[in-house]
Amino acid sequence: MRSTYYNYSKEGHTMIVILRPNHTQQQLDELRAWLEAQNISIHHSAGAHTTLLGLIGDTAAVDAERIEALPFVESVKRVQEPYKKANRKFHPEDTIVDVAGVPVGGGNFTVMAGPCSVESREQLCEVAAAVKAAGAQILRGGAFKPRTSPYAFQGMRESGIELLLEAKKQTGLPIVTEIMDISHLDAFADVDCIQVGARNMQNFELLKELGRCDKPVLLKRGLSSTIQEWLMSAEYIMAGGNEDVILCERGIRTFETATRNTLDISAVPVVKELSHLPVIVDPSHATGVARYVKPLAVAAAAVGAHGVMIEVHGNPVKALCDGPQSLTPAQFREVMQAIVSLLDTPSPPAGGAPYSRVGYADPSRGSREGKG
Ligand code: PEP
Ligand code: MN
Repeated sequence: MRSTYYNYSKEGHTMIVILRPNHTQQQLDELRAWLEAQNISIHHSAGAHTTLLGLIGDTAAVDAERIEALPFVESVKRVQEPYKKANRKFHPEDTIVDVAGVPVGGGNFTVMAGPCSVESREQLCEVAAAVKAAGAQILRGGAFKPRTSPYAFQGMRESGIELLLEAKKQTGLPIVTEIMDISHLDAFADVDCIQVGARNMQNFELLKELGRCDKPVLLKRGLSSTIQEWLMSAEYIMAGGNEDVILCERGIRTFETATRNTLDISAVPVVKELSHLPVIVDPSHATGVARYVKPLAVAAAAVGAHGVMIEVHGNPVKALCDGPQSLTPAQFREVMQAIVSLLDTPSPPAGGAPYSRVGYADPSRGSREGKG
């Protein structure tokens, strides 16, 4: 059954019920049935350390004291934030989104790379092979392009997606590409991860439709959106039943004109505190300048992002879109090396064992999670 969209006038009434570790399945089932009979929908999160029930709906009439008095209930809390499913209080452990076998989130650092736009078979396949060789795990490429000017290259559209699928076949890299309109959804049937661009972050009808899909969604932060608005957009997707959302900080509009946008690097730790969803950084759109991509990609890794998305082009000067911010394959290799050396550097053993954060590209090396 698909969950209903929330009535935000009731947003202050959402509750979470934290269960004691020794609760039985029967106790859980009985509590669920009692709550569901009161028209409450339940988000069940069973983690390694905590089991909790997120109660969504009009919980005003639910007797919290009665629940708290149950012997298998540890505590009952009210959740004030308007986002529920995206809220870490509902789901204390990091969510790891599986993009066709590539994990994003948790202890992993995932690199997505490729051209701004798919331009031709040669262009795409050359870049795809180069980013793969450098260690990228997911291939990006725009087929439907949101351009400021209607006279600019609008993307190869459906045939661009065909080429991405071809590049996927050649390299084995899963693909992520942007959707601009619900009516295009059929063309995305074989795409591994659907990107919602900054300009569509608040296209609520699109978000609702993606909530009904069973594919991971990469949700970019809107140009002038607050972190709360961004999480509410994630909530739209999750409310529809699709909980595989990856957030992407890509810079926001500020008074500064030296860079295309201003990378809100502090959004990474803030989002990680507020939400369990993976959050990656796009230093390409954040700066608009190729030479700033490496320092900001390293900053993203240092600040705890779950990955980066970087634009790479075989010949940036000739790129049909976003050439000035696109890296050459050689520059991309340098960025990868810088990230590797940062994440591989053991932290000083102050008060604990040294640890390695590297979890990308080579699964045999394990993940960052649980180390440190
Ligand atoms: C893109 O990734 O190519 C893109 C258009 O990004 P954004 O939506 O962040 O501007
Ligand atoms: Mn671009």
